[in-house]
Amino acid sequence: MSLQAGCQAGLTFFGEGFSRTIVSAYVLNSAFFMMILRQLAWIILLAGSAVAATFSPQKVTRAPRPNIILITVDTTRADRVGFLGSPRGLTPNLDAVAKQGVVFTRAYSQVPLTTASHATIFTGTYPQFNRVNDFGAPLTKDLPYLPSMLHEHGYKTAAFVGSVILDPVRGAAPGFDRGFDVYDAGFTTRLPGTDRYKTEERRGGEVIDHALTWLSKQHGGPFFLWVHLYDPHSPYDPPEPFKARYASDPYDGEIAYADSVLGKLLNQLRARGLYDGALIAMMSDHGEAFGEHGEREHGIFLYDETLHVPLLLKLPGGHPAGKRIEERVRLVDVAPTILQLAGVSTPQIMQGESLVAMWKPAQPGKSTAGGSQTVAERPVYAETDYPERAFGWSPIRSLRTGKYLFIQAPRKELYDQLADPSAEHDLSSTASAVTETLSGRLDEFRQKTASSTEGSKPRVDPELVEKLAALGYVASSDSKTGASTGTVDPKDKIEIINILRAALLQVDDARYAEAISVLQQVQAKEPGIPITYLALGNAFSWLKDYDKALPQLRIAVELFPHSMMTHYQLGLALFHAGDFQAAAPQFEAAVARSPRWADLHFSLASVYARLDREADTRKELEIAVQLKPDDFRANLILGRMLMTAGKPAAALPRLEKAVKLQPGSVDAHLFLADAYSKLGQTEKASREQMEADRLGAAERP
Ligand SMILES: [Zn+2]
Repeated sequence: MSLQAGCQAGLTFFGEGFSRTIVSAYVLNSAFFMMILRQLAWIILLAGSAVAATFSPQKVTRAPRPNIILITVDTTRADRVGFLGSPRGLTPNLDAVAKQGVVFTRAYSQVPLTTASHATIFTGTYPQFNRVNDFGAPLTKDLPYLPSMLHEHGYKTAAFVGSVILDPVRGAAPGFDRGFDVYDAGFTTRLPGTDRYKTEERRGGEVIDHALTWLSKQHGGPFFLWVHLYDPHSPYDPPEPFKARYASDPYDGEIAYADSVLGKLLNQLRARGLYDGALIAMMSDHGEAFGEHGEREHGIFLYDETLHVPLLLKLPGGHPAGKRIEERVRLVDVAPTILQLAGVSTPQIMQGESLVAMWKPAQPGKSTAGGSQTVAERPVYAETDYPERAFGWSPIRSLRTGKYLFIQAPRKELYDQLADPSAEHDLSSTASAVTETLSGRLDEFRQKTASSTEGSKPRVDPELVEKLAALGYVASSDSKTGASTGTVDPKDKIEIINILRAALLQVDDARYAEAISVLQQVQAKEPGIPITYLALGNAFSWLKDYDKALPQLRIAVELFPHSMMTHYQLGLALFHAGDFQAAAPQFEAAVARSPRWADLHFSLASVYARLDREADTRKELEIAVQLKPDDFRANLILGRMLMTAGKPAAALPRLEKAVKLQPGSVDAHLFLADAYSKLGQTEKASREQMEADRLGAAERP
């Protein structure tokens, strides 16, 4: 139903009170946040843990402060970029930057998941410390955060991201907008038949265009610009001419495309005379697997294909140029490095260590915050909770140290990275002493790095404690710090995950019938995977087969009681099946788990409307408008409800706003005319009435 048609239909109902039809038409037909299904499993467990950490930035600023451009290109393997030796020629623009900068040939991600890895990059802390180890887990205020620290030191800050996965408001990255003057996200739900790149994702070209628009307005004062290009992430689908040119390897095509749009950014920086003086940092959040160890994509395993990433720094002035650092380094080291280069002292709480000493010899008597001046071996810790959170299997941890890669899982693994760089020969049984030693070291490291969170106890934000308590949660930082609940080794199940991922992508692409058949096979083989129930429930829901959808979704809620999304989807299916009474508590549960999401409140309002709970409806709409002042629907309906409640003065600003937001809406003008009329402002009333008539006439065939 079109917006206009919805409003026209709604008009007749408004006379008698408020329209149930219009509310539900607006909210639920738009089914606003059908989030990327393959990512559903990750958008879970919003509540449950609060980071206990204190942090007090010391305001020490030294000139000069360079402009900083931080570029993250998602999902880019180290072996695909020219500056790390790839012969494929995909990254000429980045290669040119690399010639003028410092290249880290062995940089490692701490977690092979987008949101979690970006949290590590920006906080300089490990996932076991920052707790942003899952999609949707909030980046809490007590964590050190590079953008907000730079902002406090006078930097203008802007973020331009390419995916809902890094959207702080409507996506999986709550708290990531802290300290940013501009955070350009604003992704929406992808409905069947709609364009991926106009909803949940944005192509790199568009991200860069937005960034360049912002950049063109910057005059004076240092800035921190973060650009995130999501393109290389699956599905691999580059635009032309890269699509044709890389038809046999579209993943490479995505990387080539991303590099080409970065060329545009770099050229603009050069044209504006900003390039030479800027600090440019480029990295990928994680790599991508193509079946080397059975996995496709990323998130489950911790081998080099998903953790070895490009990392490059071009320093202000371009010195040193062409420097290559062969020691292992970590993305957790990026924030302390940038802080040091910006002349901002690194808070003790940051766990990474500045990389500056690696190319700059130590100055006698001067120490570097957060790290030693000597270039010592840096063990690389990484982890993924994704197997556990999404599938109930064991999480995996890894430690790279000396020549070894050690992997902690129910079946431990050990590889000699010098002799066996692609990790094909597991030495754990033949070198059991080494295996056990590294296992102990890993446990110790993890305990030490996680316990500093608990040790610095806990200045949990009181507001958060209160909020969590109001929702029935206890604020604590004790959830899942080490002990695994899952005992199944993901190695034994990886093929299931690959099949499942393909099925989830089919759901996302509205190929429901195909997806259902695959999901049912997965469910038959592995009945314990919550996401299959949710995905099947959703697929049946989209096909309007609620009899089949509801049992699946009920099981999903049982298996994933903390998930906002499962409650939401069950509520939605119940709503469409006509069981409003049962739908209400599901939407309430969803709101409780994600209280800052305006559209959820709007959705709950629509359910209350169906139940004739007028006061509750109005309350939820008030919250929706508060959270999202520019929401046309919420303003319009709330305004109309206030009118019918005999409060034209309160209604007026809502309806004026609605007209401002959608000047082409007949109903907005009609309702506003009514409000003016009730308030005795006859001239304005007739003006609005005329506009409504004019628009109405234009609409009629
Ligand atoms: Zn990513």
